[in-house]
Amino acid sequence: MSGPSNGPAVAVIGGGIVGLATAAYLAEGGARVTLYEREAIASGASGRNSGVVQHPFDPALVPLYHETVAAYRRLAEIAPDGGFALPASSAGLLLVAHAAAVVEALAGHLRATVPELAIEVLAEAELRRLEPSIAEGVVAVRVPVAYPVVPAAPTYAWANRAERLGVAIRLGRSARPSAVAGRVTGVDVDGRHDPADAVVVAAGPWTAELADPSGRWRPIRPLWGVVVETLLASPPGHVIEEAAMDVALGTGAVAAAAGAAPEDPASSDVASTPETSLVTAGGATAVGSTFLEDEPDPPAWTEPILARAATFVPAVADAPIRETRACARPLAADGRPLVGRVPWVDGLLICSGHGPWGITTGPASARQVADLVLGRDAAIPAEFDPARFGAA
Ligand SMILES: Cc1cc2nc3c(=O)[nH]c(=O)nc-3n(C[C@H](O)[C@H](O)[C@H](O)COP(=O)(O)OP(=O)(O)OC[C@H]3O[C@@H](n4cnc5c(N)ncnc54)[C@H](O)[C@@H]3O)c2cc1C
Repeated sequence: MSGPSNGPAVAVIGGGIVGLATAAYLAEGGARVTLYEREAIASGASGRNSGVVQHPFDPALVPLYHETVAAYRRLAEIAPDGGFALPASSAGLLLVAHAAAVVEALAGHLRATVPELAIEVLAEAELRRLEPSIAEGVVAVRVPVAYPVVPAAPTYAWANRAERLGVAIRLGRSARPSAVAGRVTGVDVDGRHDPADAVVVAAGPWTAELADPSGRWRPIRPLWGVVVETLLASPPGHVIEEAAMDVALGTGAVAAAAGAAPEDPASSDVASTPETSLVTAGGATAVGSTFLEDEPDPPAWTEPILARAATFVPAVADAPIRETRACARPLAADGRPLVGRVPWVDGLLICSGHGPWGITTGPASARQVADLVLGRDAAIPAEFDPARFGAA
């Protein structure tokens, strides 16, 4: 284990945004931290997402969002040359639909669940005045808070911070926790044992199988998304999301408007057709996305994604394509992250299950799990306790 201090030796598994932020917070608090990543920094969803830091619609996640925004601001202050700064002001979010009933239902739901947000319903003409790139016949709910970011940039910023604080980052190393008599002893890496006082698993959709090799405890599953990165000449200034995507984002209001029972992400039917999102940052527009149970073949989704998006922003149909990529959201069975100790091995903690919200909420839950390891009052809400899903 590396690092200058005499604090606890902690192994972190996973080099996505959650693992890297956890490692940085642990090192800041005096722990000696080694982080293991089996591929490369941000090789999972943390480097391939759509790139929006967005006010959540689940009230339980809202404090994580506010703390994460503050953490990003602080990161940029600490390392102004670090290559990442959250935009100074919000671009705003347009939740778009072809039917007025859908946006009315969604607006009503959002006003009731997140009353602190100024929610506006925009009719077609008003919407096209605000965003001339939008197609005729589209209506929207406007939500004021959404910050577009280059998708991998926040994760690299946390990697820089962790490295500067002395975290040893071991890339290309697949690790798994090891335990003796119900107490963690460290990690097994490529046939070698690296001792540690505590192990934090932040391995995205692969977290549950590392925490419980028996296969009984599986509250986190992968939900695959494909994103087509395009170069739109005149992209929308707002972040655009299809109102129907609120099902996947956990509000269920659109499903309710369509006559179906509101669903949580755990039980919702996974959409087999793309639901549009457009996020522009760093000169590129990420056009998404799918919500698939099985790992997709990305090129097969390029045309369906662009065709759906073009019904909202017609210019997408002819935009040059930079790449089509896939990644998996680590989706918890109740749509909320799992942050804290697992009940079956002492010294083994997890931080995962952020679903479609990890860039928005991951760093704050990383701070929580780090505080727990450091013996501080972590103030983790009971609704994030991994033990809510029982024991392995
Ligand atoms: C299409 C799409 C768009 C999204 N858009 C947004 C968005 O706009 N805003 C937002 O807030 N969120 C978004 N998300 C969600 C967000 O990307 C994720 O919640 C977040 O990146 C998860 O981060 P993580 O660190 O938990 O997992 P990951 O990024 O998956 O990182 C886990 C890492 O663990 C590594 N690993 C696994 N097993 C091992 C092992 N045994 N040893 C070592 N390393 C291991 C993996 O290689 C991986 O790098 C999106 C997700 C998708 C799929």
